[in-house]
Amino acid sequence: MVHSLPKSWVLFCSLAAILFPLATPATALLQPSNAEKATPEASIKLVGQKSDKILVTIDPGHGGKDPGAIGLDGLREVDVILPISLRVSKILQEKGVATQLTRDSDYFVGLDERVVMSRKAGASIFVSIHANSIDNRPDVNGLETYHYHRGLELANIVHSNIIGVLGEDRDEPLLDRGVRSARFLVLRKSDIPAILVEVGYLTSPTESIKLNSEKYQERMADAIAQGILEYLDKSTNVSNSIPVPPVKLPIKPSAWKPPASVNSPSTIIPRFPLIEVQK
Ligand SMILES: [Zn+2]
Repeated sequence: MVHSLPKSWVLFCSLAAILFPLATPATALLQPSNAEKATPEASIKLVGQKSDKILVTIDPGHGGKDPGAIGLDGLREVDVILPISLRVSKILQEKGVATQLTRDSDYFVGLDERVVMSRKAGASIFVSIHANSIDNRPDVNGLETYHYHRGLELANIVHSNIIGVLGEDRDEPLLDRGVRSARFLVLRKSDIPAILVEVGYLTSPTESIKLNSEKYQERMADAIAQGILEYLDKSTNVSNSIPVPPVKLPIKPSAWKPPASVNSPSTIIPRFPLIEVQK
């Protein structure tokens, strides 16, 4: 996931990636400030839809002037994640779940715009799809799934579905790099369960070949879609009988301050070696 625009976001992401997400295990949820206090996830499942039909926002990252990460042999993130995203959307639709794509071909859409688009449509969940890169570390590969103040359960289910399929391959199984918490804008500003899937590393010699393959992209999409369907199935069973009003999230980015618990070294338990990931 490379955010080349604007530059301040690149700097922020680099710092945030170093300071928070890679060092924060999924179980150590961030404690948001009062202004951004998270509603318990159990009470916000599948709220926001304007009709009986569940709507899922599928968000292929980057696009247009922002190609995202550039991997080995010039492999572009946008060219990997768009076909995956389109197939996820198609599968969900075939299963009777309405979807919204924040983009459906190679054009630029701003990060805020993606969240607003999803909110206006009354989506129930938000799934952003990206591919990763890291300079000078061809040895780094694997799947990461991010959440923030909502979406841990969605992240866990989608992540384990992907690992359950692609992590079982006999040759070059997909490495499980964990479910993590990170303040990515599309997660932070979404007022519904939102996750960001980093499907693998374009800078890994083995993984870039897989990610460039149509067959592997299809298998990845199938696993993501299966995870979303499993989550929706569980969530609708729980929440159908109890209508819950949509959660308002009038948050300005500047209102957020790192909680003390995140800065405390005692709470940072890296599941993987701390590495600098270009965001
Ligand atoms: Zn990306």
